[in-house]
Amino acid sequence: MALITYLTTIRFGDGVLEELPEDFAALGIARPLIVTDRGVAATGLLERLFAVLPAGMPRIVFDEVPSNPTEAATLAALDRYRAEACDGLIGFGGGSPIDLAKAVSILATHPGPLARYAAIDGGIPLITPTVAPVIAIPTTSGTGSEVGRAALMNLEDGRKVGLISPHLIPKRAVCEPDLTLGLPPRLTAATGMDALSHCIETFLSPRFNPPADAIALDGAGRIVRNLEKAVADGQDREARSELMMGALQGGMCFQKGLGAIHGLSHALGSLKNPPLHHGTLNAVLLPPVLRFNAGSADDKYRRLALAMGLAADADLAEYIDGLNARIGMPKTLGEMGVPEAVLPEMAEKAERDHSTPTNPRPVAAADYLRIMRETM
Ligand SMILES: [Zn+2]
Repeated sequence: MALITYLTTIRFGDGVLEELPEDFAALGIARPLIVTDRGVAATGLLERLFAVLPAGMPRIVFDEVPSNPTEAATLAALDRYRAEACDGLIGFGGGSPIDLAKAVSILATHPGPLARYAAIDGGIPLITPTVAPVIAIPTTSGTGSEVGRAALMNLEDGRKVGLISPHLIPKRAVCEPDLTLGLPPRLTAATGMDALSHCIETFLSPRFNPPADAIALDGAGRIVRNLEKAVADGQDREARSELMMGALQGGMCFQKGLGAIHGLSHALGSLKNPPLHHGTLNAVLLPPVLRFNAGSADDKYRRLALAMGLAADADLAEYIDGLNARIGMPKTLGEMGVPEAVLPEMAEKAERDHSTPTNPRPVAAADYLRIMRETM
């Protein structure tokens, strides 16, 4: 049995931002709510978006998306959406603004509270095709949320959950690599490692989905060939374009299911203090989880190594350790400020995460605790 969906329309390449008016017309959007964050707003990228809006289209902006999307911010954006009589959304930024736009698209047409729609609580069938249309315009190369069917959300009850539905796939993904030229090295590295972790975890997922496997392998190769280049020289347009494609590919394939890296990073990403960057967490967690899974997917490890330009018997965990060091990623959770005391609770949360069942080796809270302790 396989359920394979590749359904959205993607514009990719330099200059595609200018084609946006065609998408507004096709989707019937006249008053979009532009969902972004302060960081993006401060870069001047919004001006580039405003420049391509059709004459007379209002500039309605919600720029208070936190670093990890929250229910409170979703409700604030929803208020704005309703007050301005909006009829669609533009998620403009990294994964957080795009995910938050998806969450607003649910509540704009479905009854609350948001917790109803958590995938882990059986919310998937409650999300219907009536969601408001979302156009995703990524300004980082990482999450793949521009083509993904999930929105990660920190609920008021303290849980970080996935809102998941094929109807949450943005109706358009507009991928203009130029928008990432100004991304600083550290964010380039962290978002790139998120994308790489999507390709690796998807490929290792035991579900049967050969098209996703092929995309994952191609994406992993593209990312490792270009990530160091883009970190060293943010203006390297070819590397930026390749990374944006690699991130897109990660998002196109992770419907096959992720694994223990994301199980843990979703749990740790729910911490309010300190707030932890999703991509950086994945970078730090990749080597220990690859070691944990070694022996459960040997042939796939060889195929991954070859796709990444390494020898078939290369030690993938060791390679990622070296890559992390070269692009300035931290080595441990302790270095990121994760307090020892929260680990047991995080291990329990990770066990219940929607990414956990597709790890190639069965993983329980006790395993998660050991992996985290070894990475402190
Ligand atoms: Zn991720």
